[in-house]
Amino acid sequence: MTTIEANIQTVRGRIAAACRRSGRSPESVQLLAVSKTFGVEAVRQAFGVGQCAFGESYLQEAVPKIRLLQGLPVQWHCIGPIQSNKTRLVAEHFDWAHTLDRFKIAQRLSEQRPAHLPPLQVCIQLNIDGAATKSGVTPSEALQLARQVAGLPGLRLRGIMGIPDPAIDFVAACALFTGIREVFESLKQAGLELDTLSMGMSADLEAAIECGSTLVRVGSAIFGARA
Ligand SMILES: *Cc1c(COP(=O)(O)O)cnc(C)c1O
Repeated sequence: MTTIEANIQTVRGRIAAACRRSGRSPESVQLLAVSKTFGVEAVRQAFGVGQCAFGESYLQEAVPKIRLLQGLPVQWHCIGPIQSNKTRLVAEHFDWAHTLDRFKIAQRLSEQRPAHLPPLQVCIQLNIDGAATKSGVTPSEALQLARQVAGLPGLRLRGIMGIPDPAIDFVAACALFTGIREVFESLKQAGLELDTLSMGMSADLEAAIECGSTLVRVGSAIFGARA
C-alpha cells in the first residue's frame, strides 16, 4: 500500500471515530481530498482506494491537472478565492465552488456555466471570526447573498463553508464551528434547502464533525506537507 492509500484509510478512521462519538453515521460526512500542489499521480493513487472528490485552490495548476485527468470519474471542488477574471475557468472546469462571497462573482459563474453541464454546486463562504483571510461574508450578510444565489439558474446553492483561524484547542475550535453551524441552521430555517456544511481540515476535522460538519477538506493528512 502506498503512503497516500494508507493515509486515506487513517483519515477515514478518524472520520468514523468522530461520527461515532457524536452519534452520527459515517456516511453523513463526505471526505474532500485537497490535492493542491500535488500531481496527477497522487490523485490517481487516491482514486485507487475509492476517493472521488478532490479540492484545488490555485487555478493555474488545477486546470491543467483536471484536463490531464479527464475521463477519471471524479468531482473537482474549487476551494480557493475566485477572482472575477477567473470565473470562466471555474464555471467550465469544476463541479463545485466553496468560496462564494460576492453576488457579482456568483452572477458571472452562473452566466458562464456551460449549458451541457449540470449547475455548479456552490457554498457561501462565511467569515465567522474576522479570520486572517478576510474572505467570506459576515453572518448578517449571509441570508441576503444566499437568497440571491439561490435564484441563479447556473448555480445550485448547497450550503456554507468556513475556515476559522486555527484554534488552540478542541473547545475553542468547537466554539467557532458551532458559530458557523448556527448560521447554516438559520438559513435553513429561513427556507433555503441546504445540505452541506463544509468545515474541518487535517488538524481539526474531529471538532468540525462533532459540531455538525458534513464535508471535511483534508490535504496534508492525506498527501503530506506542502512545499
Ligand atoms: C489547503 C486547504 C485545505 C486543506 O488543508 P490541510 O490543513 O492541509 O488539511 C482545506 N481547505 C482550504 C480552503 C484550503 O485552502
